[in-house]
Amino acid sequence: MSTKHIAVALDGPAGAGKSTLAKRLAEAFGYLYVDTGALYRTIGLYFIRKGFADNLPEHLDDWLPEIHLDLTYQNGEQRVLLCGEDVSEEIRTPLASRMASDVSAKPEVRAFLLQLQRDLAETHDVVMDGRDIGTVVLPNATVKIFLTASAEERANRRYRQLKEKGSTVSYEEVLADMKQRDYNDSHRAIAPLKPAEDSILADTTQRTAEESLSWLIDIVKGKIV
Ligand code: C5P
Repeated sequence: MSTKHIAVALDGPAGAGKSTLAKRLAEAFGYLYVDTGALYRTIGLYFIRKGFADNLPEHLDDWLPEIHLDLTYQNGEQRVLLCGEDVSEEIRTPLASRMASDVSAKPEVRAFLLQLQRDLAETHDVVMDGRDIGTVVLPNATVKIFLTASAEERANRRYRQLKEKGSTVSYEEVLADMKQRDYNDSHRAIAPLKPAEDSILADTTQRTAEESLSWLIDIVKGKIV
């Protein structure tokens, strides 16, 4: 793997603020922001549309070649295309979240997405957010940060976000969904969610988004000079 480009790996559980912080961190340094969760969500959406919301088909390898994924950027926003269709909004539903978690436990799916993620880091300076970026996708990343916060605080943040968008979901549902996803993500056999040994642990429970951002900027600056 090339070391020419700078890679900031930002991993952590659902709702830790990764995507907001990764995006702003990328802006601050002029790097490309790559939201890898969107890739798993898009594969999840593909299977929902094929009628497999309750049960994934057995041989995923038969289906994956049909899935054409592209990332594009509009005004600095990552957009994800499924077979040419922009599905960036549709992948944010609770069902798509659950399906993302289901497909992400499948080795075929992780292998399918690995090269795409590595290619982006080979050709750009990136801030890449996900679950296994520092451990599996970019083990030689310049900086590895494991971002976390208490489950209650993460559920609170996600709940407020959803409410702003007009969702009627309850806090209890969001918390239960968050805990279930944490459990699935950290107990799966392949690429489970865990901090890389050489990652910096950043707990944002007691920090505002602004405080967290300047903290992360300082961490990255300390590694790239
Ligand atoms: O980050 P986000 O919530 O969009 O990710 C959706 C799901 O995709 C996660 O719950 C996780 O199961 C999976 N995922 C993963 N590896 C990544 C990114 C996301 O397994 N690098």
